[in-house]
Amino acid sequence: MSGDIAIVEDFHTVPRSPKLELKLNLIGQTRAELAISLVGVGIPERQIKMRTTQIWSWIYYRGLRSFDGMTNLSKSIRDTLSENFVLEVPELVTKQISSDGTRKYLVRITGGHEVEIVYIPEKDRGTLCISSQVGCTLSCSFCHTGTQKLVRNLTSGEIIGQVMLAKDDLNEWPKNETDSQNSQRLLSNIVLMGMGEPLYNFESVRDAMKIAMDPEGISLSRRRITLSTSGVVPMIARTAEEIGCLLAVSFHGTTDEIRGKLVPINKKWNISELIGALKAYPRLSNSERITFEYVMLRGVNDSDEDAHRLVKLIKGIPAKINLIPFNEWPNAPYKRSEPSRIKSFSEIVYKAGYASPIRKPRGEDIMAACGQLKSESKKERKSKSLIQEEIS
Ligand code: SAH
Ligand code: SF4
Repeated sequence: MSGDIAIVEDFHTVPRSPKLELKLNLIGQTRAELAISLVGVGIPERQIKMRTTQIWSWIYYRGLRSFDGMTNLSKSIRDTLSENFVLEVPELVTKQISSDGTRKYLVRITGGHEVEIVYIPEKDRGTLCISSQVGCTLSCSFCHTGTQKLVRNLTSGEIIGQVMLAKDDLNEWPKNETDSQNSQRLLSNIVLMGMGEPLYNFESVRDAMKIAMDPEGISLSRRRITLSTSGVVPMIARTAEEIGCLLAVSFHGTTDEIRGKLVPINKKWNISELIGALKAYPRLSNSERITFEYVMLRGVNDSDEDAHRLVKLIKGIPAKINLIPFNEWPNAPYKRSEPSRIKSFSEIVYKAGYASPIRKPRGEDIMAACGQLKSESKKERKSKSLIQEEIS
């Protein structure tokens, strides 16, 4: 745990006027949907392609939130847009900066629900961890989010809006048309590792990530986006076909018995079905590996036998194993494995030919580390005793 010098900034907390929400939000629409929206307000058909490109660039390249500033559109088009549409991203409620530089944003979405976003700065890059749902339908026993019921799926606008809000805070929109955003980006990577199971909100996640990758906008390479799934096997092939990003899988257990207790979705799709889907995940280059996330839980899944079983199971899959020391949360039913145990596990995996980095917990002083996210406003799904009953 790092020192307690987190900075907390509170922003206005009065929910937005509902009047604004009656207008259609263009943020989150695909290019095709944007074009249809423009047709719908009377922009002439022959101009649609050009206007779509112009508006797209203002929204996703320059980060504009008002139609007034779109100077290459006529005043009458700008007025029509303002009368019919809004450009809204989730509302920032609080921002906390950890002593290690990690930033955690609490944002409010339509309906008053709250989600968390985490920005992790590194030496020459920065990763944004975004959420796909408020809460989660799954209930992995070691995950804080899993104690919160699913409230709702996020829309594509709310998903890409998290990226846009972080770019606002990092002041990372190009200042003019010629200003490149590719020099050294503060926000260079996105991981879908926040709240929720992204493959249970597939279409919205796909549309939002397509927007993030669009070369005339935020323009992040598909290799800089990693989607983490707990193992929704039937959606894995679609992820490759329709998003094409990198894949991470929350593995965590090397027998169906243990994995079933930790990641209950294993009862629906077991280890062998999951491995089958991962073997079929296409790679466009040798450097594209599947990340296996493995949370280190003391005395539960951290033995040398587990490590040997793991490398046997994943044989033939180009992979990297991320060992995540368990991040504790209030009343969590597990303990973090001892550092020496994690090291020994890591060495076995490494000797078998896989990179096996031990993830350094970031932002612990502000509860921003993996699996600690949970918005306070929602009801608990389970009590600690119930979780303990399930796992024993
Ligand atoms: N629902 C998706 C993505 C979000 S969870 C999934 O399960 O993959 C992101 C990662 O954090 C997952 O690998 C998850 O298993 C891990 N995680 C959850 N709780 C954790 C905790 N308390 N400590 C460490 N890692 C945790
Ligand atoms: Fe949901 Fe992922 Fe947490 Fe499991 S680990 S409860 S799938 S967010």
